[in-house]
Amino acid sequence: MAAMAPRTQARQDRAAADAGFPLGTVPLLPAGTGFFLDIDGTLLDIAEKPQLVRIDDDLGYLLATIRDASGGALALISGRSVAEIDRLFGRNFCAAGQHGAERRDAAGKMHQHRVPLAGLKKALKRLRAMAAEHPALVLEDKGMNLALHYRSAPELAATVRETLRRLVEELGDDFELQSGKMVMEIKPSGKDKGTAIAEFLAEAPFRGRLPVFIGDDLTDEFGFELMNRVGGCSVKVGEGDSAAHWRLPNADAVRAWLKRFAEREREKS
Ligand SMILES: [Mg+2]
Repeated sequence: MAAMAPRTQARQDRAAADAGFPLGTVPLLPAGTGFFLDIDGTLLDIAEKPQLVRIDDDLGYLLATIRDASGGALALISGRSVAEIDRLFGRNFCAAGQHGAERRDAAGKMHQHRVPLAGLKKALKRLRAMAAEHPALVLEDKGMNLALHYRSAPELAATVRETLRRLVEELGDDFELQSGKMVMEIKPSGKDKGTAIAEFLAEAPFRGRLPVFIGDDLTDEFGFELMNRVGGCSVKVGEGDSAAHWRLPNADAVRAWLKRFAEREREKS
């Protein structure tokens, strides 16, 4: 692995220190760690348009290094679909998409939560009409999840929330509302990021490892609660109430922390 440019390292250390969370406040991870990582707002700064984010080579290389150093025990745990995760990162990692509704295990097998999709199609039609009426809204159809982003139109927050709440009510018990940063989603109930991580932890190569989960948003609280229950390491990125036991200020600090693990493992080999 190429050494990180000193300038980047300095920038990341400063980013962590500026926000009042020196990296020393998160634990040094042992060699037997299993990594569960949210993407947007955790490995990447949140983008104005989620479909336009790009993965830099540094990040791809860092994640591959950690995956290899941990015997493959690295999974991306996202609200994005697995297809979207693969578009960004290549088909290189274990992944859970759509907030746990779908998952690709270490053997490459896909697991999909079964939900009736007929009702969701109707909801999609209604949301398409709403997005057409308000061009600042961005509608994302992920298959089992429908997300309406209002980052460019924060004044529509209440309208978006109320519309999705009513649609979820009509859909019945199979779906529920998930709020996030400038986004509201309709997602299948019964699955979340915590259930997805628990499923990984029951399988090789994650079984028996000390799990760490890093995330930044409300949907990640399910993962933090699981970490706290099983004695893993829960890390919240940024501010806000959280069940997580540790904090990092931003994506730069997350990468610096992960890099520290990668470099230590490299020195051993
Ligand atoms: Mg996130």
